[in-house]
Amino acid sequence: MSEGRILVVEDEAKIANFIQKGLREEGYTVEVASDGEQGLRRVLAEPFDLMVLDLTLPEMDGLEVCRTVRDKGLLLPVVMLTARDGVEDKVRGLDIGADDYVTKPFEFEEFLARVRSHLRKSRQSSQTVLHIADLVLDTRSRRVERGGRLIELSLKEMSLLQFLMEHQGEVLSRLEISERVWDIHFDTTTNVIDVHINRLRKKVDYGYTPQLIHTVRGAGYMLKEE
Ligand code: CA
Repeated sequence: MSEGRILVVEDEAKIANFIQKGLREEGYTVEVASDGEQGLRRVLAEPFDLMVLDLTLPEMDGLEVCRTVRDKGLLLPVVMLTARDGVEDKVRGLDIGADDYVTKPFEFEEFLARVRSHLRKSRQSSQTVLHIADLVLDTRSRRVERGGRLIELSLKEMSLLQFLMEHQGEVLSRLEISERVWDIHFDTTTNVIDVHINRLRKKVDYGYTPQLIHTVRGAGYMLKEE
């Protein structure tokens, strides 16, 4: 059975049901939204692996939904459903960040092959193991090693390290770190972040070379190998 959570945004109930039933039989979890606004709200609020997006929708059309999804930084594959004669729409859809389009009416097998292929590509591109020098973080097993030695981190230290590793070579301000790792803004006079950075340093840098966590004076922190 296939795994994946798919959002189908389609106002024609017959088509929505046909897609939902077919994908469920393949093992996917499928949710349906019947207008553009509802679809956008759900894809922004819930974790989906792929979105099937009809072009002509009430409230907000598919192009607008797709544009907003990309503006918000969501990377999930978007497969658009278009009418047979909508060549311009297809081009516009791909221009604003859709990954593919399927022309209605379509053969379910062909549609399924596209969905599978996009899910596979997106899984391959989402990195699960992060590296810098001899430091390794496996985000799935939440295992951290440096020089082959296992390092025990708290959950917060793990999230902090992951954020730093995903942005190697970039200066990250305390504000960015507090928003991403703590999901809140700290009063800038508190030193919560510095305290956690120092703990993390003791675990991943102390006794090793090169040093990886660097303080950038007046700006924040940076993970880099030098
Ligand atoms: Ca429609």
